[in-house]
Amino acid sequence: MAQTVLFVGLGNMGSGMCANLVKAGFEVHAFDLSKDAVAAAVAKGAHAVEDLRSFDGSGLDAMVTMLPAGKHVAQVYMEDSPQSMRKGTLMIDCSTIDVETARALGQGATERGYPAVDAPVSGGTAAAEAGTLTFMVGGAPEHFEMAKPYLEAMGKKVFHAGGNGNGQAAKIANNMLLAISMIGTCEAFHLAEKLGLDAQTFYDISSNASGQSWSMTSYCPAPGPVPAAPSNRDYNPGFAVPMMLKDLGLAIEAAGTSGSTVPLGQHAKHLYEEAAKAHGDKDFSVILPMLNEGLLKAD
Ligand code: NAD
Repeated sequence: MAQTVLFVGLGNMGSGMCANLVKAGFEVHAFDLSKDAVAAAVAKGAHAVEDLRSFDGSGLDAMVTMLPAGKHVAQVYMEDSPQSMRKGTLMIDCSTIDVETARALGQGATERGYPAVDAPVSGGTAAAEAGTLTFMVGGAPEHFEMAKPYLEAMGKKVFHAGGNGNGQAAKIANNMLLAISMIGTCEAFHLAEKLGLDAQTFYDISSNASGQSWSMTSYCPAPGPVPAAPSNRDYNPGFAVPMMLKDLGLAIEAAGTSGSTVPLGQHAKHLYEEAAKAHGDKDFSVILPMLNEGLLKAD
């Protein structure tokens, strides 16, 4: 018999993920505060849930959440989830939220008899639709194994990062590194051009030398060398500045609570705050034109 899933949060990411669970043969019940979002999920084969608390959850195998922030996930886990949900139902939270909340919600649910994993994603809306997301999973090994079939229906790669909260830790540490490497790549293109190298020449050299990185070869901030990069379409995202700022905020918060020292992460957050003021709707590689226009200062 098909596994039965309740999917909560049918926004930019959740809509594609929910549709991929349906495509993979799961029986999916879909809920969002937006009725339009529920109607769109129903058009792709899900069943509408009108009210979360009173929904009959006695036949559920799993609940997947894809929500904006920790407070929304806490609201669903602690207040709104179906009262009748049977013990043993697997809780999979795919939202990007703070490590502490993820750890507390995951451990709390598990203690109440609901195995729980945090499973944030790498990859944007295109990957959510195509079913090619990467999942970083925190939770007990046996709960990771339970979650795998659901995650494999929505993504291409699934990694176990350790106990509850470690999926979020992997996600924000990775994205802090991405922010720093993107800013460094932008500074290098800016300097090289000021010194008389054109972007393609610098790319050909640096991408074959020790400056090579994902920010350079997959997402080059200078227009030209990497045709699919947002720099070739006026820096339209891609991965928008506010999303990077959200992840950096989570990283700096986690650095504070864990006593970690992240000076470059902190400076990256400051630069993305400036980018959000000037170019809030653009891709996070917009740092390069901001440097070229003299919009960012060194301190
Ligand atoms: P979104 O704002 O498009 O969607 C969130 C959905 O949750 C909305 O439809 C909203 O109505 C619904 N919602 C909010 N509170 C609710 C509640 N209490 N009950 C039911 N539904 C509720 O956000 P998104 O872009 O889909 O992102 C979701 C998560 O994925 C975020 O944590 C984000 O950081 C993460 N993420 C996004 C991307 C991306 O490219 N968009 C990439 C990686 C990770």
